[in-house]
Amino acid sequence: MSAPVILWFRDDLRLTDHAALHAAVATKQPVVLAFILDETGPHSPGAAVRWWLHQSLTSLTRDIERRGGRLILRRGAAAELIPSLVAEAGASAVFTGGMTDPFARETDRAVAAALKPRGVAFHRMRTATLFGPNQVQTKAGGPFGVYTPFSRACLALPPPREPVPAPTTLADCSALASDSLDSWSLCPTAPDWAGGLRDSWSPGEHGALERLARFLSGPAEHYAERRDIPAGENTSLLSPHLRFGEISTNQIFHAAVGRPDSRKFIQELLWREFSHHLLWHHPELPDAPLRADFTGMRWREDPEALRAWQRGRTGVPIVDAGMRQLWHTGWMHNRVRMIVASFLVKHLLIDWRQGQAWFWDTLVDADLANNAASWQWVAGCGADAAPFFRIFNPVLQGQKFDPEGKYVRRYVPELARMPTVHIHTPWQAGGPPPLVDLAMGRERALAAFAGMRQTGPVP
Ligand code: FAD
Repeated sequence: MSAPVILWFRDDLRLTDHAALHAAVATKQPVVLAFILDETGPHSPGAAVRWWLHQSLTSLTRDIERRGGRLILRRGAAAELIPSLVAEAGASAVFTGGMTDPFARETDRAVAAALKPRGVAFHRMRTATLFGPNQVQTKAGGPFGVYTPFSRACLALPPPREPVPAPTTLADCSALASDSLDSWSLCPTAPDWAGGLRDSWSPGEHGALERLARFLSGPAEHYAERRDIPAGENTSLLSPHLRFGEISTNQIFHAAVGRPDSRKFIQELLWREFSHHLLWHHPELPDAPLRADFTGMRWREDPEALRAWQRGRTGVPIVDAGMRQLWHTGWMHNRVRMIVASFLVKHLLIDWRQGQAWFWDTLVDADLANNAASWQWVAGCGADAAPFFRIFNPVLQGQKFDPEGKYVRRYVPELARMPTVHIHTPWQAGGPPPLVDLAMGRERALAAFAGMRQTGPVP
């Protein structure tokens, strides 16, 4: 029997339209399928992502076994485990998906360096984005810093390739040892807080395809007009499936493109591409503001206010509804993400990285690129960001996007009976005042911003 090749799954837990799996199978050599849980990097998975990962791997294992194959699970530093798997299996090549996460890139360099002297090829293929990180370039040949020309450049490229089908059979070709998924204890037990997640989601490739079909046969038609309304299902809810690569952006793109209503939706997929483009070209994105002057910003340390925000107890209805939706379901509507993030960073003047960390731990779609780029965007310190001085008024935002308070009533049950006229200002109906006076918070934020500009970056 010829030497096997290894297919290393990462954020691409699917069998359909998996370029690296497709290429591995095309070698006609036996394919060893492996997943490594690597928690040795600086951004190891948060709690909600760990829960999802368990379900997604369960689903992937089932799909692989149905085709006659087996998924090998190992836990530890992939930089060491992939070369040792190669040695154990006597493999002649490794195929995997390319990642934009800086730690994953470092891992790739280490794996490639370990394999090269042994004559083992290391193939990285694009499995997670529509375009390669260096494929989209300015006319001068550099990276983009602004979304609109980036999206235009994407749309001017030849369209992403058509999705490739899943292999019909996969052989169990090795006697390699595998961890049991349960031994990884990815799901919470004491307490088991994942009930809301279980009720809200169907992780795995089948769940992802069902979600896409449901979107295209329903909300897609009114996506452009209704995508900012948080009550009801007005967006695709595909983000956690995309985060884990249970469906590819290619599949979504080709299912949507050409439909009369798809332009806005494709623009949003391109925001995801833009975030990954930024992370690739600015690996410091999750840790440092892209705009250097923001290193001089004097953020407040206020653990009590941070905790009130995290728990959805700020007294500002739309903020509390969003934070409780997140806590309960592991997801939050995009418009509300912008509102709660702006409230934290501006009205509470708390460092965006603290908000980013909470989202990282609680979002089922927590994605290094999207999370960091979006937080920097809201904070005003990112590429093409909303200016810091444009401060969302959460009352007006609530009144505009949740005019009857349907969303607030759903997630903040103590306001369920509040008359609509006061649903976003319960303090005007005798309720307790918000955690921060909104006018004062706004002025304080503007003063801090002005101070930052005078002082400049901290050396
Ligand atoms: P749809 O509206 O149906 O959009 C389709 C897909 O496009 C999404 O699944 C997503 O992959 C992509 N997309 C949509 N909006 C954006 C956007 N603004 N930026 C980048 N990609 C986008 N998204 C994440 O996937 N992971 C995160 O960790 C994350 N953190 C965020 C933090 C903040 C502070 C903010 C303001 C936004 C964040 N987003 C994040 C972006 C966005 O809120 C979600 O992608 C979106 O709400 C997911 O819902 P959906 O799948 O129904 O989106």
